[in-house]
Amino acid sequence: MTIDSKSPELGAMRHHRWAGTRTPRPVDVTARARRSPAFSGHERVFEARDDATGLHAFIAIHSRVLGPALGGCRMWSYPTPEAALTEALKLSRGMTYKAAAAGLNLGGGKAVIIGDPRTDKSDALFHAFGAVVECLGGAYFTGEDVGTTVADMDCVARSTAFVFGTSENGGDPSEMTALGVVAALRIAIARRHGSPALRDRVIAVQGLGKVGLSLCRLLAQEGGKLTVADVDRARVSRAVDEFGAEAVSPESLHRLPADALAPCALGAILNRDTIPELMANVVAGSANNQLASKADGWTLHRRGIVYAPDYVANAGGLISIAAGQIEGERDRTRVLERVRRIGDTLKAIFDQSEREDLPTAVVADRLAERRLRGAPEAPDLRLAG
Ligand code: NAD
Repeated sequence: MTIDSKSPELGAMRHHRWAGTRTPRPVDVTARARRSPAFSGHERVFEARDDATGLHAFIAIHSRVLGPALGGCRMWSYPTPEAALTEALKLSRGMTYKAAAAGLNLGGGKAVIIGDPRTDKSDALFHAFGAVVECLGGAYFTGEDVGTTVADMDCVARSTAFVFGTSENGGDPSEMTALGVVAALRIAIARRHGSPALRDRVIAVQGLGKVGLSLCRLLAQEGGKLTVADVDRARVSRAVDEFGAEAVSPESLHRLPADALAPCALGAILNRDTIPELMANVVAGSANNQLASKADGWTLHRRGIVYAPDYVANAGGLISIAAGQIEGERDRTRVLERVRRIGDTLKAIFDQSEREDLPTAVVADRLAERRLRGAPEAPDLRLAG
């Protein structure tokens, strides 16, 4: 599988160029990013600012040795630019490992836009962001993420072809991500309880956004019992009304009895404060960077908690983009089959973790790193235009 940024298909997709008067350009801030503790051999890091639209974004390209860097665009009210940069660095590394562990020929990148997604969005801002992505000449492909939607990506697509998850190109991948999380929950629950059946299993879902609500729907269909929490009350009410979920406070969710915890909100939920309080002995969810630190992987392992490494469990959306939008697989059943194979990958990781007495997160990293080591160097990255 390859994506050629000069392909006629992408050329044809590049139909609505932004008709703005000025195009913001990315500035290389790799030297500044190197000073961050979250820097991890990233290939290039860019910052983009545009006063006219209020755009302030970072785009981190972690690695392109397996293919072009692909990763969504997050919009969040980061307290400082450094916090946004740190997030872009961490998330882009996760994308590299996600693609590598899933056997995809894609690299890892991520964009973050600083701003409140409820109040700071505008078409102009996303057009400007698209123009920045376009400048990267296909080294980085964007898409939706926390705080951004298909409609936002439709705006981005007016300035660049290097975007997935528009209404014409794949749409929201969250349902596929949720399907992958179900596969992860099944195999992790089977490992701990002997059977993959979800009926009557109590699953605690943290975060009821695009993935969390899809996951609730799928689990309810399987007869699972849901305990849910979100900081957004309207989303909690939806889960209660539509799926008969029991609502609890975000602070207490991980402390309540459950067969499995599915973190589907933000990162660092598994940390030195929460792990000792965990009541579930299975963790599998969609959130990126669930472990606050590497040491937390060891703590989970020593406590006998079956942890499905985040970037393996949440690869369903990426796998479906690779299969459907990049390789052109039109048969939905085959795409679903590939997403469900997340369960096979996790089984191999759990087996190795048991055999070698290593945390599952360490085993997953080794799996990804084996693939990355064998890959040739990435081509030069030159800004377009
Ligand atoms: P989203 O923005 O739609 O939903 C996130 C939800 O988490 C929101 O409802 C928010 O209110 C809630 N939340 C925030 N802080 C919380 C807290 N402290 N306690 C409880 N709830 C809280 O995002 P999403 O697309 O559903 O993604 C969820 C997670 O999964 C993110 O970490 C994302 O990076 C990851 N992920 C998503 C996809 C995808 O296909 N959407 C793919 C891979 C990974």
